[in-house]
Amino acid sequence: MDKCCTECKAKVKKDKAESNKIYDESVRQLRDKQYTQFYHSKQWRQVVEIVKSMYNYIDIYSYYVLHKIEYGKICHHCRELKVDGWNDRLNANMIVYLTHDNHEKIHKMLEKDYEGTVKMLEGLMKRYNEEFN
Ligand SMILES: [Zn+2]
Repeated sequence: MDKCCTECKAKVKKDKAESNKIYDESVRQLRDKQYTQFYHSKQWRQVVEIVKSMYNYIDIYSYYVLHKIEYGKICHHCRELKVDGWNDRLNANMIVYLTHDNHEKIHKMLEKDYEGTVKMLEGLMKRYNEEFN
């Protein structure tokens, strides 16, 4: 049964949109808080050290793709935490060590082709592990 007149239908719709907006906003805030807490955690700092030494402090994208030896600066989750990487957030085998330039480049590539970029990174990690570990 639909008792609403057009006017109140419009209002209900607007209220719904408003509450969806509030919901999305609070979910986003909660997630952001979760990510911030994670990146400040002791576990994360420990994984960072493991990843760095796993790759001998070198950026493997520079090494294999750009044919340059450069020290990494930042750890990057192959699968983004906000997409589908949360469960692997402490899995060193799913994290690469990159220069800031390459990190930016990878994020642009992820925006264009998420699965393809993840596969490419996984391939580099696999190759490195086979050759050096
Ligand atoms: Zn990243």
